[in-house]
Amino acid sequence: MSDNRVYIFDTTLRDGEQAPGFSMNIEEKIAVAKQLARLGVDVIEAGFPIASPGDFEAVKRVAQEVRGTVIAGLCRANEKDIERAAEALKYGERARIHTFIATSEIHMRYKLQMDPEDVLQAAVAAVRFARNFTDDVEFSAEDATRTDMDFLCRVVEAVIGAGATVVNIPDTVGYTIPEEFGERIAIIMNRVPNVDKAIISVHCHDDLGLAVANSLTAVKAGARQVECTVNGIGERAGNASMEEIVMAIRTRNDLFGLTTGIQTQEIYRTSQLVSRVTGVYVQPNKAIVGKNAFAHEAGIHQHGVLSNPLTYEIMTPESVGVPSSRLVLGKHSGRHALKERLASLGFDLDDETLNQVFGKFKALADKKKEVFDEDIIIIAEEELMAVPRAFELDYIHTTAGNKVLPTATVRLKRGEESFQDSAIGDGPVEASYNAIDRITGVPGKLLSYQIRAVTHGREALGEVTVKVKFNGITVLGRGSSTDIIEASVKAYINAVNKYVYKKKREEQGADS
Ligand SMILES: [Zn+2]
Repeated sequence: MSDNRVYIFDTTLRDGEQAPGFSMNIEEKIAVAKQLARLGVDVIEAGFPIASPGDFEAVKRVAQEVRGTVIAGLCRANEKDIERAAEALKYGERARIHTFIATSEIHMRYKLQMDPEDVLQAAVAAVRFARNFTDDVEFSAEDATRTDMDFLCRVVEAVIGAGATVVNIPDTVGYTIPEEFGERIAIIMNRVPNVDKAIISVHCHDDLGLAVANSLTAVKAGARQVECTVNGIGERAGNASMEEIVMAIRTRNDLFGLTTGIQTQEIYRTSQLVSRVTGVYVQPNKAIVGKNAFAHEAGIHQHGVLSNPLTYEIMTPESVGVPSSRLVLGKHSGRHALKERLASLGFDLDDETLNQVFGKFKALADKKKEVFDEDIIIIAEEELMAVPRAFELDYIHTTAGNKVLPTATVRLKRGEESFQDSAIGDGPVEASYNAIDRITGVPGKLLSYQIRAVTHGREALGEVTVKVKFNGITVLGRGSSTDIIEASVKAYINAVNKYVYKKKREEQGADS
């Protein structure tokens, strides 16, 4: 391994996904995992296999279907957890077992109710046991930043002795500050005699807004793996943001002299995908991937950027893959042109999916003169992450205005059958949702509704995301159209279909 390479360990699917409001279904997890592989992350932590049957299946399927990167599964430091992780990972090209136990006084006493010596023994035994399944074993000392320094060094030395190839020093509660954390890593690097036999990793949370700064300071002190998530999603205030870490290391190469394996031009697209599948949009002023991250409003700045971009731009929007919205295809473009364009965007679709995407592309091109890459990406991703369509929209008619009672008539198809109903509501969207509820017989409680324009201009594709609760089960639905009522209805039907799918899978024993 090269000393100036920083390994990127992505935990969007584990730490990110377990945060409230960020859950993904299995198709969405696989779509994200494939994009992470395209982005070039070194390790994908796909889940915590013993946590639930759904988590197990997600790790197993990611291990089976995603190539070119290490797939990791999390487990506590006991044999049952480790066996379960190994079972989920066994189909992987390269598998890593990631086992952890807390080492801070407060966690050992109140959570584990174990003596430090017993914790040390459990850590060593877990690493040894995990090595029976793979030679890539990572150990995490949970709550390391509140762990006694001498004890932490003993644990690190002992687990490396037992065969850990990566040792992670997490700031589990987001408590440390950069100087202190860098010092902690430096002490480990200097004091642990066998530290050269393993990679030291860090995993920082953003409770004080310092996750990225802490991670970078640790890298300066010798850590060579950073655990992070796309858009910084994760427990509480989130994890260190992958895109910020990567672009800081790249932009300040003069200072770090380090590299990562990330294809930075895939960053923006990955960010958009994660935001779409979780229904949580990125704040406009977010570094690297926010809508305004590369916008120059002030006239004096604009003038500077036009004469030489480097006057106000420390990195270019192209370097992180912000699309330039150029026209790519129009209504006369054929299937072959679309296939080529999709291939260049990294989509390798089978014939059936391509046909579906082509049909939707044609319908869009009829309504909208110019079809951009962003439009095509949305259509293709919607198709790839599609759950079986229990219901499909056949017909919708709404009336609305300032002096009429909003009314909707909706016709849905279920296989060969058609169902139609009408309802009133506060507006055309609510009226349509009421009509759909009457058809399905399962009333949904709308928890949130968001709409955004995918590209610029009046005829832009509108994308609606809804969060709906049916019978106690919360699902996220998405739909897009140049007509916002249609997009809203499609999003709601997508939520209904996801609910039907989830319920069916639960009956079969999986839970996501
Ligand atoms: Zn964490």
